[in-house]
Formats: sequence, C-alpha cells, structure tokens
Amino acid sequence: MLTVNAYGATSATDPLAPLTIERRDVGPRDVLIAIRYAGICHSDIHTVREEWGPITFPQVVGHEIVGEVTEVGSEVTAHAVGDRVGVGCMVNSCGECEQCLLGEEQDCLEGNIQTYASVDRDGTITQGGYSTHVVVDERFVLKVPEAIPYEAAAPLLCAGITTYSPLARWGAGPGKKVAVVGMGGLGHMAVKIAVAMGADVTVLSRTASKKDDALAFGASRHISTGEEGALKELRGSFDLVINSVSAPLDMDAYLATLRPHGALVNVGAPPQPLPISVFSLIVGGKSFAGSNIGGIRETQEMLDFCAEHGIAPETELIGADRINEAYERVLASDVRYRFVIDTATL
Ligand code: NAP
Ligand code: ZN
Repeated sequence: MLTVNAYGATSATDPLAPLTIERRDVGPRDVLIAIRYAGICHSDIHTVREEWGPITFPQVVGHEIVGEVTEVGSEVTAHAVGDRVGVGCMVNSCGECEQCLLGEEQDCLEGNIQTYASVDRDGTITQGGYSTHVVVDERFVLKVPEAIPYEAAAPLLCAGITTYSPLARWGAGPGKKVAVVGMGGLGHMAVKIAVAMGADVTVLSRTASKKDDALAFGASRHISTGEEGALKELRGSFDLVINSVSAPLDMDAYLATLRPHGALVNVGAPPQPLPISVFSLIVGGKSFAGSNIGGIRETQEMLDFCAEHGIAPETELIGADRINEAYERVLASDVRYRFVIDTATL
C-alpha cells in the first residue's frame, strides 16, 4: 500500500480538506502514475454534494488526470516509466461483455468502475485525481500527446471525450449546423471540437459575457438565451444540439430549434428530471438522446485529434487551497473555462 496526499470531502456539506488515502500495490497489469494535474469537473461537485445520491465519505473526486508513469507491473506492455499519460472517468470494466468488446467500456453491461465513488474489485471505494498518485489497470490509461500542453491536457479526459463522442456519433462536420447550449468546461470543448470537425457552430449561452470567447473559439454565432424571444427566432435551425447545462432547462424550447430529423443530445447531468412534450419529438421526427463520456479507444482518438488540430482547453491553474473557492466559482459560471489543480500543492 502507498499512502498519498489528497484533497477530499468528509461530508456533503463541509468544505473539502487535505487528507491521505491508500493506493493499492502495483499489480502485474497496473501502472503507478505520479499525478501532475487534475481538472475540476461539475460532476465532482454533483457527487460530493450528494446531488446524484448518497456516497461513502471520505471521498476524493477528480476524473481529469494527467501525470507520469513511475512504475509498471510485470505484465504491462502499453506504457513505460516516464510516459506522459492520462486517466479519465473509468478505471475498469468487465472486459468481456459485448459493449467492452466493442470498445464501449462506458456502457459495460456489468457497469464500469468509475475513477471515484465506485466499488472497486477489492471492495474498496475508488478515490479520484485530487491526489498525488493513482494506480490504474493499464487498459484504462491513455497516452497524452506531447503536442498538448501538459496542464491543459487534463480536462480532455472528461470534458473533451464527453463532447467529442456525441459530435462524432451524430456526424458534426462540413454542412452541419451545430448548437452548443451552455459554454462551461464541456461546452467550450464542444465548440472547439465541432469547429475543428468542420461544422458551423452556434453558442447558446445565457448572457453576452462569453460572446467574444465563443467567436474566438471559432463559433460563427453567439445567442444570449436570456433575452426575450431569442430561442423562438432559432426555430428549425440546427441539425444537432449538444446540451451541456448542469441544471434543468425548458427542453421543448430547445427541441424547437432543431431542423426536422435533428437530434438534441444531452450531456449535462442535472439531478432533476427534464420534462419533455412528446409533440416536441413527433412533429419533425426529432430525437432526444443522451451520451455518457466515451470508450477508451475513442478517448485516445480524441486526444490524437486535439493534438493534430491544435485544440486545448482554456484553463486556470490553482493550488489545492483554492479548490473550495473554485467550486463556488464553477457554480457561479465564473470560470474560463476549466480549473486545473497543480497537484504539487497537495
Ligand atoms: P460547468 O463548467 O459548470 O458548465 C455548465 C454551463 O451550463 C455553465 O457554464 C453555464 O453556461 C450553463 N449553466 C449553468 N447553470 C445554468 C442554469 N441554471 N441555467 C442555464 N444554464 C446554466 O459544468 P461542466 O463541467 O461543463 O459540466 C456540465 C454538466 O455535464 C454537469 O451536469 C456535469 O455533471 C455533466 N457531465 C456529464 C458527462 C457525461 O458523460 N454525460 C460528463 C461530464 C460532465 P453559460 O454561462 O454559457 O450559460
Ligand atoms: Zn467530468
């Protein structure tokens, strides 16, 4: 066992605080990673505040992890000491079901083991990336291309893949009109990736405060949805809408912005239900779908795509003592566009 420094939650209401956690011994197929940077995802906040349901405390979150391999197990072939690697939202899956065999481990029929707040193979609760080290099965470790700046790479492991996957699946590309609802951590990556795929991108954000950034990321339009009648003017506009908002929205109003046979894909994960009128789907034969991160093979594809297209998240680097403040700023949408923790401060 390795005892490592971390920063975690001891209850759903207390601030996060420094603590230590145990990492398992490096097994034959394991990789020990010295974590350098960890991104702060809104899912971390939903989780520690028990908005998605009860969890076991203490809990360390963080599933946007980059660092260096410092030890490998005797049977590891994919990674070597010194490699720059990443870990996202999953650390294991059954490896045998039809979904795992397809490379869609996020949809493992046995349920994948998440990077934090999941029951691991040994019965312990997985602990996430706000820590100095992690031990992970080599199959769930990604290679982070050198072309991506180190501290900017971390958010790709969740925000990057969660937006790349539905954009790829629903065919964002030349000739397609894509709207991104909410320009936070996920949303700003959706914009950059959809632009790189060749789509015409519109940002639907509450106020004009992110307009200049949206256009700088390559969007052709920015609409302030807080303005009266803004959505009505967009009726029938988009082939694909990616909703990245962390709170419930009037989905009927957003479905109305789709062209006939268009799709609205929800990646935002508010704890509350999203009511929809069936007529918003029937009229125009529209689809309402969800999307859950992405498989390991597709995550590597996304990292390579970002390296090739020179895409990286916009980040604000913080020390561990600012994690609680960062949470409040995420909740206030006062982040441009992802906080990244320098784990040297843990
Ligand atoms: P974030 O950085 O907080 O961004 C969310 C954005 O939504 C905000 O920047 C804001 O954009 C908009 N927004 C926030 N509150 C709103 C409200 N009450 N009404 C309307 N718009 C609002 O969060 P994130 O890290 O990108 O995560 C977004 C959501 O995706 C979370 O629910 C998270 O749990 C979920 N998620 C899902 C997956 C998956 O696999 N499906 C993976 C990761 C995260 P504007 O200021 O532009 O309006
Ligand atoms: Zn996440």
